[in-house]
Amino acid sequence: MATAKRMLGFVTTAQQMPDKRTPAARLGDFREIFARFDQGRAAEQAARCSQCGIPYCQIHCPLQNNIPDWLKLTAEGRLEEAYEVAQATNNFPEICGRICPQDRLCEGNCVIEKGFDSVTIGSVEKYITDTAWDNGWVKPPTPRRELDASIGIIGAGPAGLAAAEQLRRKGYAVHVYDRYDRVGGLMVYGIPNFKLEKEVVARRARLLADGGVQYHLNFELGRDASLADLRAQHDAVLIATGVYKARDVKLPGVGLPNIVQAMEFLTASNRKGLGDAVPQFDDGSLNAEGKHVVVVGGGDTAMDCVRTAVRQQAKSVTCLYRRDRANMPGSAREVYHAEEEGVAFEWLASPLAFIGGKPAARRKAKGADVVIAVRTNRMRLGIADSTGRQAPETVPGSEFDQSADLVIKALGFDPEDVPALFGAPELAVTRWGTLKIDYKTMMTSLDGVFAAGDIVRGASLVVWAVRDGRDAAEAMHRHVQAKAASRFAAAAD
Ligand code: FAD
Ligand code: SF4
Ligand code: SF4
Repeated sequence: MATAKRMLGFVTTAQQMPDKRTPAARLGDFREIFARFDQGRAAEQAARCSQCGIPYCQIHCPLQNNIPDWLKLTAEGRLEEAYEVAQATNNFPEICGRICPQDRLCEGNCVIEKGFDSVTIGSVEKYITDTAWDNGWVKPPTPRRELDASIGIIGAGPAGLAAAEQLRRKGYAVHVYDRYDRVGGLMVYGIPNFKLEKEVVARRARLLADGGVQYHLNFELGRDASLADLRAQHDAVLIATGVYKARDVKLPGVGLPNIVQAMEFLTASNRKGLGDAVPQFDDGSLNAEGKHVVVVGGGDTAMDCVRTAVRQQAKSVTCLYRRDRANMPGSAREVYHAEEEGVAFEWLASPLAFIGGKPAARRKAKGADVVIAVRTNRMRLGIADSTGRQAPETVPGSEFDQSADLVIKALGFDPEDVPALFGAPELAVTRWGTLKIDYKTMMTSLDGVFAAGDIVRGASLVVWAVRDGRDAAEAMHRHVQAKAASRFAAAAD
């Protein structure tokens, strides 16, 4: 057993991330870029924590994970206990450890961040949980006793799965419906392998199935059943369907071939990696190989697109973003990785039009024009808007053309028209189209129908989806138990 490390190590021990593969090695495949800590390094890095009385890291973790305790247990080499603490508040600690934007959440708020660099909380969380998997400490959610009640969950993303696990542990028969052919939602078809290898998600899906959660895949609510059908079958229903309607720009030339949406591009790449047949990848329309690629947008989805394109051996990859680096919504770490991998950033640059023509290689060829460039305006940051963010404005006479054979639009997502799709016009929505819930009960405007994750918050994060799924599970349990109690009381009268 390793020697226990003394805490407060930040004074003498520098921050060290797990070993990172070189950019050249990363470009040769889609594997994750960080190795795992070994036990010595994990203990040493965990021991840097100063065990704050008021731990800001925990306050800024959406799950309020008990970070100081599992860091101390890791420093002492008590890994099974560290795992028990970590999993008590988080259904997917190894996933959050990999893909949370820690620089904006726990680590960004670590008190030693200023001057000493934060404790590497995410990497330790990943280490603890991967070790737990290796040692068989991660157990299926098998309940102590079965309850005579069933729950229907629409959507097998992190919100739906977290709720499924919590409710199964309580003894409900849990049925998860998803229109995809695999479990995991955006963790499988959106987020690329180099951030989250798909086997990490698949083993969680198998664990829930081993605990008795029943999946109904290739099952689309609105096509294969209505919401009313599921309400009739289950004691309570959770809608956790995420947001998938891609935002678009109304610019000249936007309909040209070779201008695609981010999710089409990323899904094709993820499916290819999973070994599926993807004709649009094979025919080149959703494949960046040998192309000059321009990605429009500055969020995490845009970062995933640029980093996927460089791995597909694009000739060049440029990201156009209308604000500057400091105001970019994407994680600063992701930008740094993208730059290391050879992505060029045009800050303060906004598309004005997409230019069609024949690509240089086939100038005399017949056939429809395709996109060959993005006409772009230089921007500057003007007066702050009502949210406090400086609004970008055009610099007159600053146009330039950015060459492109493939343009990927990564401009964000809105909800689909859920009430219409589900045949439930009485389902109330907000002015943004997300589902309206009562935040005390997590219930929508329909009795016994709850909602969680991106479909309530708008496009957000996995860790928030887990939080919502857990809160919804508690609320659904209270609701079903209260209904059962009132039925019992009525029968007794
Ligand atoms: P989803 O994960 O979208 O799952 C919803 C599920 O519902 C899907 O499986 C879908 O098939 C299913 N569904 C939808 N409609 C129906 C229907 N009618 N019938 C049946 N099933 C249906 N977050 C991070 O924390 N870190 C990251 O690095 C990160 N990177 C991202 C990269 C990309 C490209 C994208 C798009 C998002 C990223 N996110 C990231 C955000 C994160 O993936 C989401 O916030 C999270 O997955 C939302 O979880 P959810 O369960 O609400 O929805
Ligand atoms: Fe940090 Fe995310 Fe883990 Fe919370 S869940 S401790 S925010 S990495
Ligand atoms: Fe440890 Fe930093 Fe959290 Fe303080 S804020 S408890 S130093 S990880």
